[in-house]
Amino acid sequence: MSQIFIPDATHFPATADLVIIGGGVIGAATAFYATRAGLETIVVEKRAALGELTTSASLAAFRAQFAEPENIAMMKESIAVFERFAELTGADIGLHQQGYLFVTTAPDGYATARARVELQRAHGLDDVELLTGDDARARFAYLAPEITAATFRQRDGWLSAHELTYGYARASNAQFFVDTTVLGFCREQNRIVGVVTPRGEIRAARVVICAGPFAAPLAKLAGIELPLENIRRHQLTLGKHSLIPRAAPMVVDADTGAHWRPEGAGAVFGWSQPEPPSVPLEYVPTDWEFPARVLDGVARVTPFWNDVIENLKRSDLGLVAGQYTETPDLNPLIGATAIEGLWLNCAYGGHGVMMSAAGARVCVDELRGKNTDHAFRVNRKFKTGEKMVL
Ligand SMILES: Cc1cc2nc3c(=O)[nH]c(=O)nc-3n(C[C@H](O)[C@H](O)[C@H](O)COP(=O)(O)OP(=O)(O)OC[C@H]3O[C@@H](n4cnc5c(N)ncnc54)[C@H](O)[C@@H]3O)c2cc1C
Repeated sequence: MSQIFIPDATHFPATADLVIIGGGVIGAATAFYATRAGLETIVVEKRAALGELTTSASLAAFRAQFAEPENIAMMKESIAVFERFAELTGADIGLHQQGYLFVTTAPDGYATARARVELQRAHGLDDVELLTGDDARARFAYLAPEITAATFRQRDGWLSAHELTYGYARASNAQFFVDTTVLGFCREQNRIVGVVTPRGEIRAARVVICAGPFAAPLAKLAGIELPLENIRRHQLTLGKHSLIPRAAPMVVDADTGAHWRPEGAGAVFGWSQPEPPSVPLEYVPTDWEFPARVLDGVARVTPFWNDVIENLKRSDLGLVAGQYTETPDLNPLIGATAIEGLWLNCAYGGHGVMMSAAGARVCVDELRGKNTDHAFRVNRKFKTGEKMVL
């Protein structure tokens, strides 16, 4: 079983097979798969606890309803792991498979939704339901009359990002050192052979950067420029309210990207809005214009929110922000870099919680010299294209 502790002078390891920089959900998942593969693993996290930076801002939702084959495959694998998580790790991650419902009011919405579902079926995702506006309203009575089409997948849903992170960590055999910042790298000629921390060096043949928004500055210390941008994203939470349907799925306005899902007797909301890229931030400031904007946004497709808004007080709301760390093609960077000994598992944008299992498995396969030719490899050519950012 893993150990999670603040190191003191009497215990700080000098060597390991693998050092993971960052104890968010990606670092914890990577530790889980690495120790299962027999690698003696140390995770170094600068904060006082795991999962406290981007991971804690997440809506913790997951979906296989992607359009790209590589993302569908990642999500089918990850969801299968979430469904067996208790058996694999003993942890209860609060799995809610209440589905993801994408809705549209576009006049040609049904044809567009049908084309997407056909594409998903061609890529092996055969359990997405295609609904007319009337079918959708018959199933989900709170949908707006303007909705022309919807797609629904029951096995999509959400979980607790905190329990997932600690579930991976506790079920791994790794040692986690919190309150410990990686300041630089140990080198031998052109190779990375470990990390430098204020408590001493840890020598390791392999180092993986899982540092979320801080991945690019760390890679730069090692001599690599990563094409990453950090973009602020908000999560709004609303406490208990009698009008919120507790059995609802995650509802996504496919025309705008505004989305909400129930959380207990309340709800959580998100919406990717235009924001300038920023340096990585330890504390991401919030914009209190966001709540009114997102509530208006979701009311377009689920109009009961207009009634909720009427009597809202600011004290009913909670707002947090974090950063999406994104590549030009909005897919993560996983695997070996041009510098021997240095690996990446980062840049998951809005998908790090949901892709954590498959992403970590891909990374550890590469660490073991297997399957280096995958869609997320670090030296790929980035194809940019139209993609909905959630
Ligand atoms: C508002 C919002 C909503 C989101 N909703 C979803 C969602 O519904 N579903 C989903 O799948 N994803 C969602 N995401 C995205 C998801 O949260 C991220 O993709 C994921 O948390 C990234 O995890 P990570 O471990 O890579 O990064 P982080 O959680 O940021 O962890 C990186 C860790 O590295 C540590 N670190 C950095 N530098 C150093 C150093 N020098 N030394 C030691 N430690 C260091 C940091 O302290 C941090 O703990 C959302 C994100 C936001 C902001």
